[in-house]
Amino acid sequence: EQKFKGKSVLVTAAAQGIGRAIALGFADAGAKVLATDINEAVLKEIDGKNGIRTLKLNVLDDAAVKAAIAAEGPFDILINSAGVVHNGSIMEMKDEDLEFAFDLNVKSMVRTIRAVLPGMLEKGEGAIVNVASVASSIKGVPNRFAYGVTKAAVIGLTKAVAADYVGKNIRVNAICPGTVESPSLQDRMRAQGDYDTARAAFVARQPIGRLGTPEEIADLALHLAGATYTTGQAIAIDGGWTI
Ligand code: NAD
Repeated sequence: EQKFKGKSVLVTAAAQGIGRAIALGFADAGAKVLATDINEAVLKEIDGKNGIRTLKLNVLDDAAVKAAIAAEGPFDILINSAGVVHNGSIMEMKDEDLEFAFDLNVKSMVRTIRAVLPGMLEKGEGAIVNVASVASSIKGVPNRFAYGVTKAAVIGLTKAVAADYVGKNIRVNAICPGTVESPSLQDRMRAQGDYDTARAAFVARQPIGRLGTPEEIADLALHLAGATYTTGQAIAIDGGWTI
C-alpha cells in the first residue's frame, strides 16, 4: 500500500532501532524518506532501500539542522527519534548527564521542529511524531531520573506545539514505547554483566511477556502521521506495562 506516496519524510536517529524501522516503514508506504543520523557507517546500510536517501546529521548542532532542512525540505512529516538513556536516581545522576539528556532528548526536537515548521506552514499541512517513552510523565521508572524527566518534557513539548498549530493543519503527537528490542537496549543488557538475567528483567516488565519490536513502534508512527483527527496525544505502546 502506497499510503504516503509523494510525501516527504525526515527521520532523525534513523541508523538503527526504532528510527530505522520508521524510515523503512515510510519508504515501504511510498514516501520519499530522508534518513539522518550521526552514525554514518550504520546509516549507509539503509541507503537506497525503497528510495531512502541518507544524510549525516547531528541533532545537537542547530546550524547543521537548519542547513540540512533548508537544503532538503520542505517536509510533510517529521519523525524525531533521537534519544539517550542515562542510568541513575536523582542522587546518582551527574549534572552533565541531565544537561546532555535535555540537549539530545528535548532540545533536538525544538531544533528540528523550528526548522521544519515554516515549510509545513507554507504547504498548509504537516505531521510531527516525537518518540518519548512511558518512562516520562506516564510512569516513574527506577534508575531513570534524567531519562524520565526529559521524556516527560517531550510530551509537554508535543502538546505545546500541537496547541499552537492545531488551526494550521499541523498535527503533533508522541509515541511512548515500553521496552523495545534495539541495539542500545542490547548494550544496556550486556552492560549489566549477566545478560540473561538482565534480559529476563526487561522482559518481565511487560505483562504481554516479551519486548516490543521496532517494527511495531514504526506501525504506530505511520498511523499517527496519517491520523488526520489526532493531535497533541501521547500514545503508549508498551506490552501492557502501564495497564
Ligand atoms: P538506539 O538507542 O539503539 O539508537 C539511537 C540512534 O540515535 C543511533 O543510531 C545513534 O547513532 C543516534 N544518535 C545518537 N545521538 C545522535 C545525535 N546527536 N544526532 C543524530 N543521531 C543520534 O535506538 P532506540 O533504542 O530504538 O531508541 C530510539 C528512540 O526511542 C529514543 O528516543 C529512545 O529514547 C526511544 N525509546 C526506546 C526504547 C527502547 O526500549 N529501545 C523505549 C522507549 C523509548
